[in-house]
Amino acid sequence: MSREKQAVDRARTAFKTGRSKPLEFRVRQLKALQRFITEREKEIAEALKKDLNKSQFDTPMYELLGLEGEISLSLEKLAEWAAPRHVEKTLLTISDQVYIQPEPLGVVLIIGAWNYPLAVTIQPLIGAIAAGNAAVVKPSEVSVHTARVMEDFLPLYLDKELYPVVTGGVPETQELLRQRFDHIFYTGNSAVGRLVMEAAARHLTPVTLELGGKSPCYISPDCDLSIACRRITWGKFTNCGQTCIAPDYILCDPSIQDRVVDEIRKSIKEFYGADPKTSPDYGRIINQRHFGRVMSLLDGCTVALGGESDESQCYIAPTVLRDVSPDAKVMQEEIFGPVLPILSVSSADEAIHFINEREKPLALYVFSADNKLIKHMIAETSSGGVTANDCLLHYSVSALPFGGVGNSGMGCYHGKHSFDQLSHLRACLIKSLGMESMNKVRYPPITAEKLRWARFFILKRVNLGRVGRLALVAVLAVLAAVVLQRFLQ
Ligand code: NAD
Repeated sequence: MSREKQAVDRARTAFKTGRSKPLEFRVRQLKALQRFITEREKEIAEALKKDLNKSQFDTPMYELLGLEGEISLSLEKLAEWAAPRHVEKTLLTISDQVYIQPEPLGVVLIIGAWNYPLAVTIQPLIGAIAAGNAAVVKPSEVSVHTARVMEDFLPLYLDKELYPVVTGGVPETQELLRQRFDHIFYTGNSAVGRLVMEAAARHLTPVTLELGGKSPCYISPDCDLSIACRRITWGKFTNCGQTCIAPDYILCDPSIQDRVVDEIRKSIKEFYGADPKTSPDYGRIINQRHFGRVMSLLDGCTVALGGESDESQCYIAPTVLRDVSPDAKVMQEEIFGPVLPILSVSSADEAIHFINEREKPLALYVFSADNKLIKHMIAETSSGGVTANDCLLHYSVSALPFGGVGNSGMGCYHGKHSFDQLSHLRACLIKSLGMESMNKVRYPPITAEKLRWARFFILKRVNLGRVGRLALVAVLAVLAAVVLQRFLQ
């Protein structure tokens, strides 16, 4: 039996004991996960330095803070999220208990990506634990050092059977995908996303696919270009452009292109100094394969800024390309590196047209001083999420569902959305054995009069407080007596 199958079987056996369900257990595991983050920050930071040249401040800022926020939110809200959710009723069910009961799904497979290797792997795990599931954690093999930290240290903090870490590359992930899970949560590129969904279909397993794509950034000439470009520079070049929601390319009027280039130049200097290669805050491309891929995207383009590289260090300078054609190679795939093409559009509507002709992106960015224009762009396009007048920030709001649409993914997470995504929202109705006369309207033989009553009972929605409910039950009792008389005579 393969190592992968053994891990899944053990997780399933552990899940069946029921020990992942009690809220106190979930709370203990979440607190242990919090301790993993605080006590192992040094090991995590060292691994991320080796994998992506993340600085000692970068790691807490972009990998750990978000996780800590999600854990403390889950600890605070868990009882509320897991409680029965009472819903609006019809007259027919007014005296019944009608509610949604979130329940664990079972064993979840979490497949992580390498760009924020801890964040994108642990964040779904928080949701899986909070929702009472077992979870098999498969970190990306590409960020090898961070994968090892998870493999070595997570079992020291979490229940080993319920939350095993399985490391490995494509063959190991494929072996995992042959097993039966109750949910698969995958983060990575769309091509592998299709393979994951195919494998899941064999067992009718639901999936969450957190994918990527080309996220457009429209700059309207009416906005403060200095502020807009500083925020875009931050959003694009953080983690060396290897952020799923980084602005992939800029759309703007040709009349502002020179100023856009100039303002980005100033911001790069402000953030990373005259030589970004020596800045502790500037990352590196994950490996030589991706280095070669990103460099090849410059083919046939005019470099306005940057363009320097050093293969031995997987270094690519923050690079801006001007007057880029929609047919250029750089526009045919997600860049996922520090290269920012600028394309010309003559109006917001042309930008909308450009965006709508392509796959639905994971994120959309609009910079404008005109709120109406922003709302117009939101109304006329579709994307996983939108931030106007800034970059990346919608990711940081736990109350917002984070996920893609169409080619950029399906399903969502963060905060309560993670809990719901990894729960079964079970529909529950508990009826009393009384008030049988009310039910007569649905029992055969059906007549025109019974249909009229049924229409009244079923179509009338009620949403009353306790007092109102009691009053209504009294009225219904009278009504029931009338109906009873009517049908029993
Ligand atoms: P990756 O190479 O780490 O692959 C992701 C996972 O898929 C890994 O665990 C890997 O083992 C597995 N995998 C790879 N090939 C496989 C195959 N043939 N069969 C089965 N499993 C396989 O990461 P990546 O795909 O290069 O990640 C970058 C992509 O992820 C970008 O498109 C980015 O936009 C996207 N991303 C999305 C989010 C999000 O939250 N939506 C976050 C991060 C990255």
